[in-house]
Amino acid sequence: MDNQPILEIRHLSKSFGKHQVLRDIDFTVRPGDVTSIIGSSGSGKSTLLRCINLLETPSQGEIRFHGRDVAGRGVNPSAYRSRVGMVFQSFNLFSNLNVLENCMLGQRKVLRLGREEARARALRYLDQVGMAPYVDARPRQLSGGQRQRVAIARALAMEPEVLLFDEPTSALDPEMVGEVLSVMRELAAGGMTMLVVTHEMAFARDVSNQVVFMADGVICESGAPEQVFSNPRQARTREFLSRFL
Ligand code: ADP
Ligand code: MG
Repeated sequence: MDNQPILEIRHLSKSFGKHQVLRDIDFTVRPGDVTSIIGSSGSGKSTLLRCINLLETPSQGEIRFHGRDVAGRGVNPSAYRSRVGMVFQSFNLFSNLNVLENCMLGQRKVLRLGREEARARALRYLDQVGMAPYVDARPRQLSGGQRQRVAIARALAMEPEVLLFDEPTSALDPEMVGEVLSVMRELAAGGMTMLVVTHEMAFARDVSNQVVFMADGVICESGAPEQVFSNPRQARTREFLSRFL
């Protein structure tokens, strides 16, 4: 199998004014990797994902997608985002569109698919996340868990190579966390390449094959989940993980 990296983050730094938020971030994502990014609030996790999704411009370093730096000029952000999709904590669904339309819009505008093909794809992925019965609903009529499942279907409908998740369950009532995590577990089991910022340590431990622990804008420690969770090398990692016991 082709195991060439999909994403290579190299010496990535990001500052907002004088405030350095990311420093010399380095890691690699290969096909089928599920990478969990953990760390305290303010450690730079969202900024890292936003850089990878081209929502922020890195101050230094490279983000290589199939070997090509995407941080420079000459890359069409919409086209790139159709390959590297993102699911947000706050869903970011279009409130004026129904569920089906939410899942068709990007396919129509960015992929330029015809109406019937976009509709068929949308229905396929809505079915995959258990939301096919709600095609006509508006986001406000849905629970948080349902909205997030629609957001996942919308991202999947673009058939991206990588999906980025920024705390996809943090805005949910506790009883809805499970339905979203189970969709994500199924995606991972199906071979989807995923980069997941999460405070769900059971998910990070059980589902991912790579864990990145961030503290104050640097990768403090990374490795296989067994190593990071069972035998952390850094005192800061131990201290962070002890809060979840
Ligand atoms: P996390 O997702 O780990 O909680 P963030 O990436 O959101 O961390 O934030 C890291 C730091 O960067 C925080 O100190 C935050 O205030 C700062 N930050 C994030 N976005 C901006 C911005 N657009 N302008 C200025 N500071 C920002
Ligand atoms: Mg964040």
